[in-house]
Amino acid sequence: MGRWADLASPQISAGVFVQCQGCKKALFADEFRANLKVCSYCGHHHRLTWRERIEWTFDEGSFVESDADLAGSDPLSFPDYTPKHSAAQSKTGMTDSVVTGMAKLSTHVVSVAVSDFHFMGGSMGTVAGEKVTRALERGCEDRCPVIVFCASGGARMQEGLLSLMQMAKTTAAVERCRDHGVPYISVFTDPTMAGVLASYASIADVILAEPKALVGFAGARVSKQAQVTKAPDDFQTAEWVLKQGMLDRVVERRDMRATLSTLIHTLGYSLRNKEARIG
Ligand SMILES: [Zn+2]
Repeated sequence: MGRWADLASPQISAGVFVQCQGCKKALFADEFRANLKVCSYCGHHHRLTWRERIEWTFDEGSFVESDADLAGSDPLSFPDYTPKHSAAQSKTGMTDSVVTGMAKLSTHVVSVAVSDFHFMGGSMGTVAGEKVTRALERGCEDRCPVIVFCASGGARMQEGLLSLMQMAKTTAAVERCRDHGVPYISVFTDPTMAGVLASYASIADVILAEPKALVGFAGARVSKQAQVTKAPDDFQTAEWVLKQGMLDRVVERRDMRATLSTLIHTLGYSLRNKEARIG
């Protein structure tokens, strides 16, 4: 009998098993990683670390991180926030829940932001909001498309109103991209919820989602309580949201890179046309 490994562990080697969070079957860990952490039995897309997301989406070795040293504070002296934040930093090796930078996708330069659910549920505080804003602004400055991978439970309650302010700030940055003709693509991964969904995530030019990703504003339990009629079984899944017209396509992880490449290639024309009009 082999050993069992943590799903998020990057050190998964041969002879080690992981358990699928969807169908609960045992999977060979090396095959699981080769399959981009998608279950070969039930197709469950497991959450990725920011590093895996970048490695498996963009051109090899092309990512250059920006604002890596941007650090937050504990503005409300919220109970237990500082030790929780430090523990998340130790666990993930990140300074906060979002990593940003420049990368190449099939040789096209793109500005990238990736949130990681493993860091305090991917919650958006002042640092995450500022990083996403700067990623959008870099797109405007460098005249390149912006791609944001969302994975967040919403705004970070420990930073109170300062977290909620990030919703307005990131939304204004998206508007600046629009003014500059810079294409902005957002990808809903599991989960994309609350304050993140209600700000920069859902106002992109093109919105993609991974299969079965949880997408919504209030949590499922609260939403179901508020419903007069019974919520459908697939309520708040990417597939349900697609049916409501809130996103453009559900894309399997193995097809994400190719889909984004095609989009960047196509949308790049709108950027060049805008430049031609300006120039
Ligand atoms: Zn499975």
